[in-house]
Amino acid sequence: MNKDIATPLRTRAILEKYNFSFKKSLGQNFLIDTNILNRIVDSANLTSESGAIEIGPGIGALTEQLAKRAEKVVAFEIDQRLLPILKDTLSPYPHVKVIHSDVLKANVKEVIAEEFRENQDIHVVANLPYYVTTPILMKLLEEKLPIRGIVVMIQKEVADRIAAKPGTKDYGSLSIAAQYYARAETVFTVPKTVFIPQPNVDSAILRLTLRDKPAVDVVDEAFFFEVIRASFGQRRKTILNNLRNNLATKEQKDLIEEALQEADIDPSRRGETLSMDEFACLSEELYKRFK
Ligand code: SAM
Repeated sequence: MNKDIATPLRTRAILEKYNFSFKKSLGQNFLIDTNILNRIVDSANLTSESGAIEIGPGIGALTEQLAKRAEKVVAFEIDQRLLPILKDTLSPYPHVKVIHSDVLKANVKEVIAEEFRENQDIHVVANLPYYVTTPILMKLLEEKLPIRGIVVMIQKEVADRIAAKPGTKDYGSLSIAAQYYARAETVFTVPKTVFIPQPNVDSAILRLTLRDKPAVDVVDEAFFFEVIRASFGQRRKTILNNLRNNLATKEQKDLIEEALQEADIDPSRRGETLSMDEFACLSEELYKRFK
C-alpha cells in the first residue's frame, strides 16, 4: 500500500519521477502535511454521500483525502503537465474525475449537473491558487451553484477581509459581497512550512456556508454592489462624500443626503461602519431616487 501523496517523501518522489518544475504563475504551492489536509477535509463536514469539487488538484494531495471521504470528486486543473501525474497518483480512486480546464472559464453548473446526483450534498474544497483567489470565490458565489459549502485555503489577509465584521479594519466591499451569499468564518491558520515551495504569505482556511437566499432583499443586485463599492471608494472619507464623488452625477448630489436621512444613516459615518442591512436600506432609498 502506498503512503499518502502528501507525505514529504512521497511528494518529492513523485516530483522527481516526473521531473516536475513548479510554475509560480499558476500559484503552485503543494501541501505536504496530511494532518493539515485532514483538518481541511474535516472542516467541510462531508459524508460518504457527498460530492466534492476541487480546484487545482496539483499532484493530488487533497484530492486523495477527499476521495477517501466523499462519494465522488471532480477536480479542475489548468496545468496540462499535471494530468499524467494525477492519472498515476489517483489510480486507486476511480470515483475521482479530473477535468483539464481553467476553472474561471469552465461551466461549473453544467459540470455539476453532469457529474453529480440530483440534490446531492456538494462542497467545494480546495487549496486555491493565490493569484486568482477572489475571482474564483466570486465566480462560485455569483453563479448561484447548487453547492452547500466552500472550504478553501487562501491568503490569511484575504480570509480576514472576507470574514470581517462591520467596524473592523478588514471590513470592505469584499466582506459584503461574500457575506451576501454565505456565512463566512476563518477556521484556522496554516504555517508556511506545510507547503513546497513555501509561499511568501500566511494562509488560512476559510469556510463559506451558502445561504438559501441572499442575506438581504434588494431590488437591483448590481446597483446594491455599485453603492457598496462607491461607499468604500476612499476609506477616510464619509459615506456622504464617497457617494457624492463616486455614485452621483452633478444633478443627483442633493438626493444622496435625502436618501441617507431616509435610511436613518448619519452622513458623517464611514462606509466601514455600515452593516449589510444598512447598505440594503440605503441602496433601496438611492434606487428610488436614481432609477
Ligand atoms: N491541491 C494541491 C495541493 O494542495 O497540494 C495544489 C494546490 S496549488 C496551491 C494550486 C493548483 O491550482 C495548482 O495545481 C495549479 O496548477 C492550479 N491552478 C492554477 N490556476 C488554475 C485555474 N485557473 N483553474 C484550475 N486550476 C488552476
